Amino acid sequence: MPTASTAIVWFRRDLRVHDHPALTHALERFDRVVPLFVVDDSILRGRWPSPNRWWFLARALESLAGELEARGGRLTVVRGDPVELVPRIARDVGATAIVISRDYSAYGRRRDAAVEAAATALGVHWLAGRGLLVHEPEDVRREDGGPFHVFSPFHRRWLEADLRPVIEAPGAMATADVHVDGSGDPDELLGHPVPTADLDLLLAPSEAAARARLDRWARSDALRDYATGRDRLDLDGTSRLSQDLRWGLLSPVEVVTRCAGSGAGPSRFRSEIAWRDFYAHLLWHEPRVARESFRRELEGVGEREPDPEIVAAWKAGRTGYPVIDAAMRQLLATGWMHNRARMIVASFLTKHLRIDWRIGEAHFMEHLVDGDPASNNGGWQWAASTGTDPQPYFRIFNPTLQGQRHDPNGDYVRRWVPELRGIAGAAVHDPRGAYVAPIVDHAAAREGAIAAYEAARSG
Ligand code: FAD
Repeated sequence: MPTASTAIVWFRRDLRVHDHPALTHALERFDRVVPLFVVDDSILRGRWPSPNRWWFLARALESLAGELEARGGRLTVVRGDPVELVPRIARDVGATAIVISRDYSAYGRRRDAAVEAAATALGVHWLAGRGLLVHEPEDVRREDGGPFHVFSPFHRRWLEADLRPVIEAPGAMATADVHVDGSGDPDELLGHPVPTADLDLLLAPSEAAARARLDRWARSDALRDYATGRDRLDLDGTSRLSQDLRWGLLSPVEVVTRCAGSGAGPSRFRSEIAWRDFYAHLLWHEPRVARESFRRELEGVGEREPDPEIVAAWKAGRTGYPVIDAAMRQLLATGWMHNRARMIVASFLTKHLRIDWRIGEAHFMEHLVDGDPASNNGGWQWAASTGTDPQPYFRIFNPTLQGQRHDPNGDYVRRWVPELRGIAGAAVHDPRGAYVAPIVDHAAAREGAIAAYEAARSG
């Protein structure tokens, strides 16, 4: 009599049950599944530790465990080295396959190749499929097969690619009744992370909460008005779905399908999701950008060992430019920052202060709940003009004008910079003697930056 077949579904950045191709595939092909998450020591101790993200992850795992349990499944969570643990657990529970949603970062790729090799050596199949992006790197290529380095043609091809249908969440599932040594509670295995952001300002970290956010957003006036509202710092004009996409509480295919309406708002919104794919594909095709400037000639244009006091002033929101300071404090308080604000503060660090983009990238990764190696690197290299399809180096945001344009009544600044609450209206963007003096003069900094970029470009 044949024994029941078992597969491990190894969850990583896909912490959901809805629209989960790997989970669905495993449930269709195998008699039993063992849902598994490994708290990866080398990520916890790696380049980008973040109490805010670990806090969110711990709760997202609790939520996933609950979703699986409601369907008869049981999530096993262990801590250690996945290369050693995943194949060993597969062998111990009698699994003949490990099923995953593909990952695209340089580290994720190396790890997956090593786990696959170890699993294959034990005779365990490795089944890697889609789930983290709308379209895979293989689906959006130039005529000659090469990758796009410019967004507009990428986007045209991205829109033409077939969108797979959204998959329902499984009803019931059969889980192998296994006990894995060292398995335990996610919060405990993550070391009971305490967020540095204000607990009251963090968004609820569960699949159900993420689905409620998507429901609200898909029906909102803000989505209809997104093409213009997305740049307003003082309004709730964006979806706030980034942490849900980062951790896979939502599938990007489901997000674009639910926001499929016509008109400028929905189509602009979908194009932002295409930027997310664009940067993930870039990292897949050009893993070196994780550590280097895409434009090699601009490597070194920013200071890699800058004055610590200047960096500290930028991080704490004490630069003397109200919109920069509001944005930096929003990041510390909420673990999130508005996209327009990310662009302004990143431009300020790399152009006005001429500090290397990697210093800003690391600070964002420390605090952002949505901190993502591909989108964050892409955003930083865009702002620093070192990236693929970046902001031209000579287009340097004037922080005062940016504040006046995108926070026209000054409400965003007053919300995050209490010292300025006494100044009414847009005057808050140019407080002169009523606030700390700017750490650099805009006009002089702009000229200095352009000269430095031109010198670097001409070798
Ligand atoms: P919405 O405006 O509602 O957009 C919807 C979704 O589209 C977002 O949730 C996100 O998944 C995606 N998206 C939007 N804009 C971009 C973009 N420019 N690049 C890639 N994806 C995008 N986004 C991250 O998810 N993680 C990061 O670590 C990150 N770091 C950034 C760093 C810099 C310097 C810059 C300029 C941008 C960065 N972004 C990052 C992109 C963007 O700022 C955030 O995705 C957005 O602010 C999240 O808010 P939202 O969900 O309300 O966005």
